This record gives sequence, structure tokens and C-alpha cells, in this order.
Amino acid sequence: MPAALAEAEHAPLDRAREILRRTFGHQEFRGLQAEVIGEVLAGRSAMAVLPTGGGKSLCYQIPSLMRPGLGLVVSPLIALMSDQVAGLIQSGVAAARLDSNIEPAEKAETWRRIEAGELELLYVSPEGLMQPWMLERLSRTPLSMIAIDEAHCVSQWGHDFRPEYRMLGKLAELFPTVPRLAVTATADARTREDIRAELRLQDSREFVASFARPELILSAERKRGGKDKRVVELVTARPDRSGVVYAGSRDGTEKLAQALRDAGVPALAYHAGLERRLRTERLEQFLEADAAVMVATIAFGMGVDKPDVRFVIHADPPASIEAYWQEIGRAGRDGDPAEGITLYGAADMAWALRRISERDVDETVKQVQSRKVRQLYALLDGTGCRAAAVRRYFGEEGVKSCGQCDLCTGAVETTDATEAAQKALSAAHRLGGRFGRGRLVDHLLGKTKDASAQEQGLSTWGIGTELSVAQWRDLTEQLLFEGLLREDPNDGRPLVGIGDADAVRAVFRGERRVAMRKPAEGYDDSTRSGRPRKRSREAMAALSPADQPLFEALRAWRSREAKAQHVPPYVIFNDRTLVEIAGAKPGSRAALARLNGVGEAKLAHYGEAVLEIVGGFAG
Ligand code: ADP
Ligand code: ZN
Repeated sequence: MPAALAEAEHAPLDRAREILRRTFGHQEFRGLQAEVIGEVLAGRSAMAVLPTGGGKSLCYQIPSLMRPGLGLVVSPLIALMSDQVAGLIQSGVAAARLDSNIEPAEKAETWRRIEAGELELLYVSPEGLMQPWMLERLSRTPLSMIAIDEAHCVSQWGHDFRPEYRMLGKLAELFPTVPRLAVTATADARTREDIRAELRLQDSREFVASFARPELILSAERKRGGKDKRVVELVTARPDRSGVVYAGSRDGTEKLAQALRDAGVPALAYHAGLERRLRTERLEQFLEADAAVMVATIAFGMGVDKPDVRFVIHADPPASIEAYWQEIGRAGRDGDPAEGITLYGAADMAWALRRISERDVDETVKQVQSRKVRQLYALLDGTGCRAAAVRRYFGEEGVKSCGQCDLCTGAVETTDATEAAQKALSAAHRLGGRFGRGRLVDHLLGKTKDASAQEQGLSTWGIGTELSVAQWRDLTEQLLFEGLLREDPNDGRPLVGIGDADAVRAVFRGERRVAMRKPAEGYDDSTRSGRPRKRSREAMAALSPADQPLFEALRAWRSREAKAQHVPPYVIFNDRTLVEIAGAKPGSRAALARLNGVGEAKLAHYGEAVLEIVGGFAG
């Protein structure tokens, strides 16, 4: 490329970097941000797949500010919109949202600003945008670009399918000259294809970032009864942190939240069955708190980007690996270490598979979804690095182990259990799928109380005395995860039978080995949760004990400021910025402006207050 041309191509990116620094207070672009922004600035549509926390919003916010006209952002959730708009306003950007919650007077004012060309960014819901009168009004407004956030919602292969997203394909015809950018955090190859087809982006470039989230420390453990008690243990071992606990049912969230409150944890329940007002109230409480635990169904989450969530616990497992990564991805968005802990069981898997089988959808869709469920449990119950497994699932190649998940740090050891597996499989075969798991184990141990003479006469009766009840339970559970046994839900009294015939045959022939996890020594906090806790303290060590009082003073000031403005504290400054301020103790506006997260608008608004607090601690 001739030098002059190369320069012309780079000039817009230099301007973009300038905005990144002045408006948003960040020094450099991260990952693929610069490339995506460059594409949109060149007037081309694109699709960007960036992991949660990867900085997707700047990919459309910056081009919207640079190109003439109004930037439209389509977003599925009001919570997400209101948060982003609040953050943009703090940074001095003219942004607004139009949704069903906005008062008529405010709506009218927003339209006035749109028509006067005063507004830079407008957030809308898909159904709001696609109303004929809205489209008509917008057709008279110059648009800089259209961003479609959470674009995987358009795909029925994804896990968040929203039918109203399908309408967005029309935008291609309605605004043929406006670049469109589809962004999402989760999309396997198939979902990506679907997004491109539905949103008519077939000819556009696709940017797919690495799915690595090095700040996330993953672990998973099988449920062992007393699930709520275990969650309380996990949460109380992480005091004064914000976290999210996902539970499978509405009732489950209420019960768990209560159990946590009984243990002294400030926990709130959240689910779709709550009154809207209560939901908003609790969401705000959670967002504004320095440390609170939200116990929620998956109705809670999309668009909740509280940056300082230090853990996500799945009290019940997620629906797929996509959902796993997205839900766990809500932890550690500020880039500091955070944990994702998942509790799971074979019963959860059977239940998920059954729900799919009962769905009123195409057989092919059922197959895809069932496979996704199996892949999830293979990952949860697997023995190799969890982070690497997720990344491979998303199509990354040459992935290395993370070195910090429970499997990398060696919490799980395996032994060969092929012979025991053969015994369990033949017992299940002989019993003809008429009994549940407990009965199968008792049979292997020869201790079923009311065993018939016929059962006692079977060759498998009592052949498994080398293992304990707990070990047999573990093994049968594993055989279920591997598909070697299958459980028929039978209305809550599940029956165990033989699974995949080919695989079972391979085990009998010794061609397929079964590696069993060494018996877990119960729940041992010194190994599992102890390590991550220490790590996150190390990461916070950027804050020296001597700076702690200043940090606390800044936090208290931020808290007051946030209350007064009715915004979450982190839209003012996030923890990381406060840590930087406490460490650097800037003595001038110029020194403060150099810190990450301090853009021009924030400097103008808060510079004085911050410098005064810092001054009070100087010398
Ligand atoms: P997501 O991709 O999940 O939507 P966001 O756009 O919300 O992520 O960004 C996550 C966090 O990362 C935000 O706090 C944002 O300010 C920060 N961030 C984004 N881009 C950069 C950057 N280039 N440098 C530093 N921080 C950034
Ligand atoms: Zn690992």
C-alpha cells in the first residue's frame, strides 16, 4: 500500500483513539475494538463476536460519535439500555433511550433533540424500533450507524432466541446506506451463520475475538444433597463481595435468598414472577451496592453489567455452554479475578433433556439442543481444563490450559474404573430398567432389603462389594453423564437403563475405558475455594494497605455522589479507577486525567472533588 494511502486509512483510527482517550478515558483499544471500529468508519456493515467484558459497546459508540447523524442501538433489555445511557451521559455524550418506560414529556423532548440533530446515540428495543411510525420518523433522520446488540437473540440455535429480533433483517432494505454492526458475546459457528443470514450480513466481515477470560477462575462440583447449604457455604466464604447466584426455579431463588440472609448475607431474590416495580427496585439495589448477592433465575442477567461482580454461582446448572459462558461472564467485568462455580447433577441433565424432548419444535432443533446439553455436562463433569474446553467449543484452535481452574490445579484425580463400570452396566441390563439408581447400587452390593428370590439369583447380585455406596453413586452418575446409562424421568421417580448401545458394547469389550474421579473428600474449602480467594486478594494488592483509607474515602464519596444522581456508583468511576487514584495520588488535574477511566467530562465534573479528597490524605 502506498504510504499516503496507508495514512489516509489510519487517520480515522487516530481520531477514534483520541475519542477513546478524551471521552472514555482509556489509553488504548483492546482486542479487536480498533479493527471493528475501522470497518464501521469505512461505512461497511460487520459482525463482531467479542467475549463478555470485551468492550463491545465502544465498537458502536465511537463510530456513532464520529460519523455524521444519529447512532441507533437496538438492545433487548431496558436495564441494559438505561445503564449504558447513564454511563454515556456521565462521559458527556448526548444519549437517550426510547422505550415503554419513558414518560411522554421526555419522549417528546428526545424527538425534539433527534430532529434538531442534537442527539448522538439513541437506544431502542427491537419491537419499538420496528413500529411503522417509528421507522417512518427515523427515515427522515440521518443515521450514522445501526448497532444490533446481543445479536445471537436472532438465532433459534442460540439460547436466547427472541422472535422480535427476526424483524431486524428488514433494516438492510430500509436503510441500505447505513452501516449495521451486529455484536454478541456468544455464538458458535452455527449461530454466527444464522445471525449473518437473518440480519443480511452475508457479505460483511466477521470479527471473532478469543473467548479467553483469564480473570475467570472456573470450578464445578456435583451436587451432593443439601444444595442450599452448600451455596450458603460458598457465599459466606466470600464475604463483602458482590455475586450472583443462579437458581433453576422462582421458588428456589426465594428460598436460597432467605437462607443466605439467615446467614447474614445481604441477599436479594429476583425472578420474572415478581412485580415489575419490585424487580426494578432490587436490580437498582444490587447495582448500587458495594457488596450484595443477587439470587436469581436467568430472567436476571442480560445487560446487567455491574463490573465488580466477584462470583457467579450456579446453584443449578445453566442450559448450554453458551449460557454458561454468558452467565459466568457477568463476573469480573472490571478485569479483576472472579470466580464461576457450578453445581450440577445427572438429574439436572435428565430434566433438561426431557424438557427439550417435550418442546414443540422441529426434530432437528431438538437434536441440536440435546447435543448442546450433553456437551455442557461433558464439560462440567470432564477432567480437562474447563476454560480450554469452552474456548475449543467456540471454535478456537491451539488453546492452552488456563492453569487456574479446579481441574488444572489438580483438585480432580482419576482412576481406571472400567471393570466396575462393566459390573454396573450388566446389573442395569439384568434389572431391565425397572429400578432407580439407589436400588441399582444396593443390588450391586447385595443389600437390597426386599429383593426377590429372582433378583438375588441374578449373576450381578452382590458383585460390587469392592466399592462403597458413595463410590457406586459417583460411578453411576458418571455413567449417566457419559451416556452409558440412561435415566427415564418416570415422573420424578427416575429409572435407570442401558444407554447408547454401541458405547456400552465398547466398554464390555474393553475398547472404551472408564476413568472415574477419585472420591471427593466432601466439601473442602481449604482446597477449592481457598485458592481463588487468595488469588483475588493478590490481584487487589495493587492497592497497598497504606492506600486503603484513601480508597475507602473515595468509595464513600462515590457512593454519596451516586445516590444524589440516582445512578450506579460504577458509572461515576469503577473500582479499578479508584484503586489507580488511591495509588497514584494525583496532585493536579493533568495527573488525574492520565489515569484509566478519567475522561474529559468526568474530569470536569469530579476532578475537583477527587483532588480535594486526595489532598486531604497527602503528606
Ligand atoms: P461488553 O463487551 O461485555 O459489552 P463493555 O462494552 O460493557 O463490555 O465493556 C466492559 C468494560 O470494559 C467497561 O467497564 C468498559 O469501560 C471497559 N473498556 C472497554 N474498552 C476498553 C479499553 N479499550 N480500555 C480499557 N477499558 C475498556
Ligand atoms: Zn484450566
